[in-house]
Amino acid sequence: MLDSRQLLHKSQRVVIKAGTNILFENEGLSQGRIKALARQIADLRRLREVVLVSSGAIGSGFKKLGLTERPKSLRMKQACAAVGQVSLMAAWAKALAAEGLTAAQILLSADDLADRARFLNAKNTLLTLFEHDVVPVINENDTVAVEELKVGDNDTLGALVAGLVEADLFINLTDIDGLYEADPRARPDAALISQVEAITPRILSLAGGGGPLGVGGMYTKVRAAKRLAELGTASVIANGARRDALKKIIEGQDIGTFFKPPAARAMAGKKSWLAFASRPKGRLTVDAGCAAALTKRGKSLLPGGITKTEGAFAAGDAVKVLDESGGLLAVGLVNYNAAEVEKIMGRPSGNISAALGYCHSDEVVHRDNLVLSAGLI
Ligand code: GLU
Repeated sequence: MLDSRQLLHKSQRVVIKAGTNILFENEGLSQGRIKALARQIADLRRLREVVLVSSGAIGSGFKKLGLTERPKSLRMKQACAAVGQVSLMAAWAKALAAEGLTAAQILLSADDLADRARFLNAKNTLLTLFEHDVVPVINENDTVAVEELKVGDNDTLGALVAGLVEADLFINLTDIDGLYEADPRARPDAALISQVEAITPRILSLAGGGGPLGVGGMYTKVRAAKRLAELGTASVIANGARRDALKKIIEGQDIGTFFKPPAARAMAGKKSWLAFASRPKGRLTVDAGCAAALTKRGKSLLPGGITKTEGAFAAGDAVKVLDESGGLLAVGLVNYNAAEVEKIMGRPSGNISAALGYCHSDEVVHRDNLVLSAGLI
């Protein structure tokens, strides 16, 4: 595990996120910055697999469409992304080609990642691209996603992608040097935090607002690092405008903020998808005894403890499990659909056959398909 900076050179699979603010200079997409990053990506690529998550479609598009500021309406953002994604991708393809690398474009939406089959398809595509020495360049599919169905920011998308490919390192390049003890714009003397051992609520609270062009702030960056720590993935937040930033990070130099993954914490593939990518379709409320069995004794969710079911979910969908006061206990994959759960809830598992005419399993949610809320943020 990459639990110290000195081990970062051992990383095998790295996801790099390049934020809008470092890709723009003097109001336009910066060929110089993109070239410099492509050169470093080529160096990294010699010994490891690299995925790039690049922002900048909307930022690039609105200027091309002659707007003076980032659009607010969804339709205009979508139009800008459609125009800007072309220039963004062209810039990356050109810069990577100059380093002898082939680029591939992948546009993902939250739905693609929330659906387990599409999630696995995206993963297979990425693994195949690695085999063919291609650098995938990923962005959110901004032109089709409506606001409430969006991943929303590329810090979160980068973390989802890092989870998808089971990366061991996530490098989040922005225009700030890392996480500070206080907002450096308000307190110029604030100290940069070099290493974070555990992403506590205090660490999350140190994260401030976003830049003028991008959408993510420090909060989404630290939250992305926290989610990845749950998967056992190390993260570094650093200033991508600094000379040789990527190279220095990989060499283990003290640049940016390094988020150390907790020892022996690695959520297995399906659980990590459940925790971070799935979109629950319904809610099951459970009684206190059942809540304790789930959270304290590591048990599966049996029909007997369920007191209420809400939402139209099918067997195999993700659902939220709530306690009687509505608090989130877990997210899990259900073995029965909503109408079936309605019929079997409150009864012992032995009665499932009598109630439904068949019994696919004793559990409504098996433990292996359940993630407790402590693992979700
Ligand atoms: N997908 C957006 C874009 O390319 C960027 C989102 C972000 O900056 O986090 O414009």
